[in-house]
Formats: sequence, C-alpha cells, structure tokens
Amino acid sequence: MSADCIFCKIARGEIPSKKVYEDEDVFAFHDIHPVAPVHFLIVPKLHLPSMYEANMAHHQALGKMLALAGELARQEGASDGFRTIINTGRVGHQEVYHVHMHVLGGPEPLGPMIMRKQRGA
Ligand code: 5GP
Ligand code: ZN
Repeated sequence: MSADCIFCKIARGEIPSKKVYEDEDVFAFHDIHPVAPVHFLIVPKLHLPSMYEANMAHHQALGKMLALAGELARQEGASDGFRTIINTGRVGHQEVYHVHMHVLGGPEPLGPMIMRKQRGA
C-alpha cells in the first residue's frame, strides 16, 4: 500500500472508478481515457510500482490478472478477441507506477501491436 498512489486509492475505493471486478488480490476498473471500445485495467491490490519489482512473492496476484482477463473481457463485450498490455518503465511508456494490465477489445480489430515506421523514412 502506498498513501499517495492513485491506483492504491482506486483499489481502496477512495477514488471513484467504474469497477469491473474485485477479489482479495486484484481490482479491475475502466480506464478513464479509453482507447478502444473495451478498455479496462486489472491491478494487484498490493502496491507494486512496476514489473521490474515483481518476483515470485507476487505470483498469485499476477497470475490472477492473466487468468481473469478472458472472462472479464467477454463480460465487458470483447467476445471476438482482445489484447493485454503491461507497460513498464520509461521505455515502456509507463505513466502510473502501480502495476496494471490493460485489457483492450474491439469489436473492430485493434491494428498492429506497435506502429511500424514508414518504409524508406
Ligand atoms: P500506463 O501508460 O501507465 O500503462 O497507463 C496508465 C493508464 O491509467 C492510462 O491509460 C490512463 O488513462 C489511466 N488512468 C490514469 N489515471 C486514472 C484514474 O484516475 N482513473 C482511471 N480509471 N484510469 C486512470
Ligand atoms: Zn499503488
């Protein structure tokens, strides 16, 4: 738990969010700025700044994040596929330093995972 972490506050209910799922280890809620028709985040309740700090002590919450993704994606309307993303650190463009897995879904295909550079540019 970290006193001034925004996702800790969301997981504790101190900042409102559109909840998707909650159990003793994880909390899932809609992203405030969705970039796809289905876009929610799954976070561990324990404060973990990034995947660099993850270790086997966190395997239950991290495993649950993956194990729940399909069920929750389908529940939210992504019935024909989805994408999971965990951004880490500066190079990964992580903005909030509490581990979170984005779950993104259509109905339209999301496009390539990483924008390709223009040929010849
Ligand atoms: P990152 O770039 O760290 O992987 O993504 C952070 C995500 O958290 C962004 O997509 C952003 O829209 C979302 N986000 C940031 N602050 C809040 C908030 O207060 N509430 C919700 N629901 N999402 C947030
Ligand atoms: Zn936190």
